[in-house]
Amino acid sequence: MEHICQNIKKIKERIPEHITLVAVSKTKPASDILKAYQCGQRHFGENKVQELVDKQNQLPKDIKWHMIGHLQRNKVKYIADFVYLIHGVDNLKLIKEINKQAGKHQKKINLLLEIKIAQETTKFGMDQNLSDEIITKYLNGDFPNVNIVGLMGMASHSTNQEQIANEFNGLSQLFKKYQKQIPEFRYLSMGMSGDYPIAIANGSNLIRVGSAIFGARNYQI
Ligand SMILES: *Cc1c(COP(=O)(O)O)cnc(C)c1O
Repeated sequence: MEHICQNIKKIKERIPEHITLVAVSKTKPASDILKAYQCGQRHFGENKVQELVDKQNQLPKDIKWHMIGHLQRNKVKYIADFVYLIHGVDNLKLIKEINKQAGKHQKKINLLLEIKIAQETTKFGMDQNLSDEIITKYLNGDFPNVNIVGLMGMASHSTNQEQIANEFNGLSQLFKKYQKQIPEFRYLSMGMSGDYPIAIANGSNLIRVGSAIFGARNYQI
């Protein structure tokens, strides 16, 4: 996997400088992460708590760890002291738990609300009524140990580029609406290996890229 560095460089050449590239290292060994780290990559994404904790223990402490997967409430406590940003927050109980665990560490935890934009029923994410309700509570001071810093979304797994663009664009509109109300709103997390150019064209400023950096994942192991 000597190509990890080249892959990162290629992606960086293709995207504007203000875009945050999160290298999604799930299922990949710590040695691969270290290779990316040695090329200057600092933002990494994982989707399983145990794997995230194990890797965080082994790897340099200035890595910014992103929890990008579905997070169970009873596992927030394992990542509260070090996680940089939690992406997939799609319910009120989870926000309350993150707020509670952050409070124990006397810190604030950054999170993104995950909004459902795909047509498929399998994807996680909240609808806009719930995000409106949560934003209202947040502005009201209900979660003092949480920073809601933006939104995250996953487009349909589809070859229809126009549909993907429309889904991303819808989320971008919602992001702009909340940005007017919340000064700390700064991340719009959308785009993966297969669709990040479309995501960026539609307002994304944070992309989560796995296989285009580290190669295909093998889930059998
Ligand atoms: C795995 C994963 C990615 C990266 O997917 P690739 O297609 O390998 O780039 C991005 N976001 C989430 C939420 C993921 O689970």
